[in-house]
Amino acid sequence: MVSASRILAVLAASLLVLVAACRPATGQSGTGQNGDGHDDAPAVSVASAELIENAPAVGESVERTDAEWREQLTDEQYRVLREHGTERAFTGEYHDHHGDGVYRCAGCGAPLFDSDTKFDSGTGWPSYYEPIADGRVGESRDASLGMVRTEVHCAACGGHLGHVFPDGPPPTGQRYCINSASLAFEPRATPDDEDDS
Ligand SMILES: [Zn+2]
Repeated sequence: MVSASRILAVLAASLLVLVAACRPATGQSGTGQNGDGHDDAPAVSVASAELIENAPAVGESVERTDAEWREQLTDEQYRVLREHGTERAFTGEYHDHHGDGVYRCAGCGAPLFDSDTKFDSGTGWPSYYEPIADGRVGESRDASLGMVRTEVHCAACGGHLGHVFPDGPPPTGQRYCINSASLAFEPRATPDDEDDS
């Protein structure tokens, strides 16, 4: 009989411990109230190893048939790169992306812009003050939509990127206003990364 009441007491004590153990946990879980969004940085797609490996050198041109582009690109990439489309502001995946690395052409993999030159233009499109290197980004006159603008494209594959405007920040004063759909981000390798692939 004594042992029965002792067991009850132990059980009651255990319950108290359990309840007490749960309390702080529930109290602290407030930091996770964003549901699945436990990562601070928004997820963005990155350039595939194949795209990077086959990237053209400066001066090299990439020729593909329309059918090949259609097969390789997503519908949105095709519409922007090959049909001079424009993605809606604030909808692309890189306009609010602040990763350290290189933005490549989503069509041919050519490096186009460095994250060091990216700035927040407030336009809803990724914006850079200069291309990554001479010979990577070509320009053409665009008189569509009742205005004259300077269109910019990938010098290697001709893929449409966006436009450049003379209202950018120092040191160049240029604003390369680029569609996210034209780009594929390659995170910069840190010195700690071993080449163990
Ligand atoms: Zn390209």
